[in-house]
Amino acid sequence: MNTIKIKKKFSDKVKNGFPLLTLEMLEHQDQLGNEGDIITAVDERNQFIAKGYQGKQNKGVGWLITWDPEEEVDHRIFVNRLRAAIGRRKKWFGKNDTTAFRLFNGEGDGIGGLTIDYFDGHYLFTWYSEGIYLLREEILDAFEELVSYKSIYEKKRFDTKGQYVADDDFVRGERPSFPLIVKENGAHFAIHLNDGAMVGVFLDQRDVRRAIRDRYAEGKNVLNTFSYTGAFSVFASLGGAVKTTSVDLANRSVAKTIEQFSMNGIDYEAQDILVRDVFRYFNYAVKNDIKFDLVVMDPPSFARSKKHTFSAAKDYKNLMKQAIDITEDKGVIVASTNAASLTMKKFQRFIDEAFKEKGLKYEILETYSLPEDFNVSPSFPEGDYLKVLFVKRK
Ligand code: SAH
Repeated sequence: MNTIKIKKKFSDKVKNGFPLLTLEMLEHQDQLGNEGDIITAVDERNQFIAKGYQGKQNKGVGWLITWDPEEEVDHRIFVNRLRAAIGRRKKWFGKNDTTAFRLFNGEGDGIGGLTIDYFDGHYLFTWYSEGIYLLREEILDAFEELVSYKSIYEKKRFDTKGQYVADDDFVRGERPSFPLIVKENGAHFAIHLNDGAMVGVFLDQRDVRRAIRDRYAEGKNVLNTFSYTGAFSVFASLGGAVKTTSVDLANRSVAKTIEQFSMNGIDYEAQDILVRDVFRYFNYAVKNDIKFDLVVMDPPSFARSKKHTFSAAKDYKNLMKQAIDITEDKGVIVASTNAASLTMKKFQRFIDEAFKEKGLKYEILETYSLPEDFNVSPSFPEGDYLKVLFVKRK
């Protein structure tokens, strides 16, 4: 057990439940030990504040897990946190039309640095630091006490010398054959738990996909940029889009998008699936006077291509201006970002400025943040990283 003194300036914040430890909070940085160490945070008078573990993740050096001096960071606390998370998701287990959801959402469920996703009886653990990964066996054992599963897979999202290491992600249970086929609001998705860093669908966009299908797609010509496996295109098509165009830089996106269309009985040959740099595609569309009724834009926080580097926190306004150029009058842009450093306020300002600089009016029709199963801690609202605006060009 490692004791860490919190600077006076930060001790109230930590006492009030802020779970993330950062270097600037520490009175003595040399009090840090090793990844995976259990730590006790104390105030300037050495009074107990909280316990947690050391794990380097983005700006943080560790997560606090309990503010109860009687509680230990051990098997029991993992059982308790997991049980509470499962209890909060009761209704999700009983759903027939949605069989994929987030079961455990990091600090939102009381343990920062770990997420668990459910895919029709199969579970995906994602470890966000070496520190939490070192507690892995204890956490898996706690999970096993509570849940009967078909299989467990895992992803490591911490620096293993830069790149994602495509080793075997299988952990426990019986290996299924892939793809798994899960349901989301009645639609189908193919899921690959053992095929690189991403599994095929981002569950946090579930409500946005449904809105597109149920209220925005009918009779529309739809452009899906940064389309990955085409999940938005699938929902647009199911909602009656006349045609979808999916644009992604990655070659693999074509086969993956065809797979998702096929899962849903959609004729993929009637859709456009393009391997292109989105920024170049925008220029091409402007030159050729191609316009869309609905443009979906969900870029990564950072993107690099031959000609461009893109950072959502800096460049979203320009991206928005390009999208406006190829959106029909009265058309809708679904502007999305998961960049934690881009706040909702700043995001809205970018959109406002983009329209003003184009001399156009707009209306925000709907706003989305993380869905219900992505539990967010009230002490750590910045954990709600997703921002989606449905913007109508007027
Ligand atoms: N919107 C998707 C997820 C996007 S993931 C969904 O909801 O499923 C980000 C994607 O952007 C990746 O597939 C990546 O290949 C793609 N990408 C990154 N830079 C790009 C660029 N310059 N042009 C086109 N696609 C790009």
